[in-house]
Amino acid sequence: MVRARGVRKSYGSTEVLKGIDIDVMSGDVMCIIGPSGSGKSTFLRCINHLETIDGGWLEVNGHLVGYRRKGDKLHEMRPSEVAAQRRDIGMVFQRFNLFPHMTVLQNVCHAPVLVRKESRSSARAHARELLDRVGLADKAERYPSQLSGGQQQRVAIARALAMRPPLMLFDEPTSALDPELVGEVLDVMKGLARDGMTMVVVTHEMGFAREVASSVVFMDDGVVVEAGSPDQVIGAPQHARTRAFLSKVL
Ligand code: ATP
Ligand code: MG
Repeated sequence: MVRARGVRKSYGSTEVLKGIDIDVMSGDVMCIIGPSGSGKSTFLRCINHLETIDGGWLEVNGHLVGYRRKGDKLHEMRPSEVAAQRRDIGMVFQRFNLFPHMTVLQNVCHAPVLVRKESRSSARAHARELLDRVGLADKAERYPSQLSGGQQQRVAIARALAMRPPLMLFDEPTSALDPELVGEVLDVMKGLARDGMTMVVVTHEMGFAREVASSVVFMDDGVVVEAGSPDQVIGAPQHARTRAFLSKVL
């Protein structure tokens, strides 16, 4: 589902991704862990071309992301083509970014009607299903400001799912939440994983990673230091840098 080879990214003279290789198969849940500034968010943003890349390549579903090949050179896609690709990749951020002036139901229906040209009635029916799935069927007519952080994040997940993406990206979806609200969001994500959703999740929730991840990637300073099963990377890390990081978060 996602293949990255030698992905490089610099900001000015600072190289923040120094050649990232990863493979995510359909139905996999990959958790990316690593210290602050190691490039986790930057890499996630490369997967849906919110960042351009300076070297290597990245494919989602067998299609190059953001670029097309001409001979052995890569050329940037037109914005409309990028937008079409991005439609198929759900993304959930640390901050929920719901539309404050819309109800929960309107938030979830907005893109399917506007972008996917779904009929209002089918978008609504799907939105109600998704709200039920994230445990918020009774909050459809509320406004985001009337919800807790955990509820808002669950709406954000429903809103991303409304576009029926085959791939979901999560960037520290629980790290802005009060501790008692983390569990309800992780439970929704566990449900998604059980249903076979392909997910790439940047997280510091090691319990979630151990329980749900099919693979764990430890990044440090723009490189993948170590990757493997949760039992390998979290349970029996091979590298000193991984062990040092885990000793701080476990
Ligand atoms: P955190 O755990 O704090 O979220 P991260 O692993 O997600 O960290 P990134 O946000 O990917 O790290 O940042 C990697 C490096 O790139 C950092 O040194 C950061 O300062 C730098 N960086 C990120 N975005 C930009 C930008 N738009 N312009 C310049 N530098 C940036
Ligand atoms: Mg980050």
